[in-house]
Amino acid sequence: MKTPVRSIARSSCLCALVLLLALPVLPQSRLQSPLERSGFTRLTSYDTLQTFLGTLNGRGRCTVGRLAQTHNGRNVSSVLVTSSPHFGEDALKLRVMLFAQQHGDEPSGKEALTMLLAKIANHELDTILSHVDLMIVPQMNPDGAELRQRRTADSIDLNRNHLILTSPEPKGLHDLFARWQPQVTMDIHEYGPYSESWSDSGFIKAADVQLGMLTNLNSSEELRTYQRRSVYPSLAEAMREKGYLFQEYIVGSPGDLIRYSTTEPNDGRQSFGILNTLSFIQEGRGGRTLEDRLERRARSQLASIEALLAFCAGHAGDIKSLVDRERLRLSHSAGKPVVLCMDHFRGAGRLAIPVVTVPSGRDSVWQITNLHDTVKAIVTRDLPMAYVIPGGLTSLRELLDRHHVQYEVLSSEQKVSASAYLIDAVVPDTLEDEWHPKPSMRIETREVVLHPGDIMVSTSQVHSLFLAILLEPESMWGLVKYPAYNFLLQSKVYPILRVP
Ligand SMILES: [Zn+2]
Repeated sequence: MKTPVRSIARSSCLCALVLLLALPVLPQSRLQSPLERSGFTRLTSYDTLQTFLGTLNGRGRCTVGRLAQTHNGRNVSSVLVTSSPHFGEDALKLRVMLFAQQHGDEPSGKEALTMLLAKIANHELDTILSHVDLMIVPQMNPDGAELRQRRTADSIDLNRNHLILTSPEPKGLHDLFARWQPQVTMDIHEYGPYSESWSDSGFIKAADVQLGMLTNLNSSEELRTYQRRSVYPSLAEAMREKGYLFQEYIVGSPGDLIRYSTTEPNDGRQSFGILNTLSFIQEGRGGRTLEDRLERRARSQLASIEALLAFCAGHAGDIKSLVDRERLRLSHSAGKPVVLCMDHFRGAGRLAIPVVTVPSGRDSVWQITNLHDTVKAIVTRDLPMAYVIPGGLTSLRELLDRHHVQYEVLSSEQKVSASAYLIDAVVPDTLEDEWHPKPSMRIETREVVLHPGDIMVSTSQVHSLFLAILLEPESMWGLVKYPAYNFLLQSKVYPILRVP
């Protein structure tokens, strides 16, 4: 006879086994970002970030690569994220590129993207990843970050280097963009709320996050409308639900004028926008120090990023077809007007923003009284069929290569009818508060002989409007305002020809 004790022991053993089998397989312990592990007290250093990215590589979904090497020899890392077997192979998925900390003293975007990567590793974003492939660059400027400064170690403002791409970090970012052609991009920054120009007027800006959309008139009107009418309201609602203050990105001050940010295609937003990308800039509220209020800064940036991703996942098909259509349109732009100079004017729009009043410290809302919310064209030209660049201008050819522009190098002499700008004078001018050279010119069309080695750049490509902005002598954001290229305006005949 079996003793009851043994029988009980055996049956309880069995029960335990059955229970064990019935339990779900325990997931790996929840991965936390380095900032979360520190209880939101310590910024993630370059070395800690590299170690964290190394642990991601082993968790599937994430492939870590090197985008560039900095002046001081650090790596700029990129992470490709997909729930498909291989990144980019599912043509139905939308591709979204997120990058942060071009300015080394604006760390909260990097912390937010690192928290996002931890969530991805913990399978908390699986619904989004079934519609979206992600390209994430958490730290564009590791040298500046380690030095706790805006610029790189060699004193470059990376967010003013997207036109000439002479620094490896933005060059690497544009290479990544060219490789995968993401339909949506977001450049993540921080703004300083404590400027004197605001506090002297009695306000401190209070929004946790400001979202900037495309402002350059050459980027697709349909994309700009979609940003303003569809994307922005969705993010604003999501942020309100999560208890964060959110507004459109504005610059200027109460005592002067307030407008939307620059139209310059030289930053992380407009440089992709001009290729008809649904491109954004996000500005989180900075602190009094880099560590000040770090948890709220990182969490609010993350909340807005997640709201954007949720919107993208819910509208992946719409966004893909919209961007594809608008990009295709760029290849058929010859003969259509390109805006070479533009500026901000007072329009009919109204904007109320969250502020803290000074000196009472009360939360309030300020109805902006001096809003210049309308961008208007000042100089336009028709886009030619092609530009011709003399073969001797090798620095220009290298610049086109950095942007992955397609062109033909002539192998034999050719006669074409082309237009040349004859420059009478060049005077300094100011638009959008910035200097640029303004030539007065005549245009002359004649038969010209092109030589072997000359470069013919067709505008039947996605870079069509970018080329006009880059190469036209009247372009307020063109090459002629860069010291390395202002020789272009120094001869009587502008050396780059137009093929009408
Ligand atoms: Zn910035």
